[in-house]
Amino acid sequence: MNHRRLLMLIVACVAAGFMACGGEEPQAEQQVEEQVAEEVEEQVEVIEPEMTEEEMVAWVMENCICPQCPSWIPEAAEKGEGGYCAVGISACIVEEAGCICPECPVTLEKDLLWGYYCTRGSAEEMMAQD
Ligand code: SF4
Ligand code: SF4
Repeated sequence: MNHRRLLMLIVACVAAGFMACGGEEPQAEQQVEEQVAEEVEEQVEVIEPEMTEEEMVAWVMENCICPQCPSWIPEAAEKGEGGYCAVGISACIVEEAGCICPECPVTLEKDLLWGYYCTRGSAEEMMAQD
């Protein structure tokens, strides 16, 4: 093989290698972009927009476990009560016979510190008293 042919062969190999790299690069970039887009999408699903006051009360009522509490009375159910930590005292519960608020998912989710909201007032009122 003479020098000219050897030089042409080297140039052809370098060009082929360059094209191979150039062909993979956009593919790798695209994979990274897709991965980032997926991660952002996942994060967006986790971040919820701020709840309105109404939505918050509805969420508290849905998760409230007051009906399982020893202080709970049938009249409270008839009145559609619950979620006292959000809405304040009950119109009918007056006797404190035990409170299970510390076991409630609302307490865990909102880091509430108190209990007996049905007789003592909402979490906001309790906080103001501390
Ligand atoms: S913390 Fe107590 S009052 Fe508030 S939702 Fe839970 S059980 Fe009901
Ligand atoms: S606020 Fe506490 S004491 Fe009152 S009904 Fe709910 S769990 Fe029971």
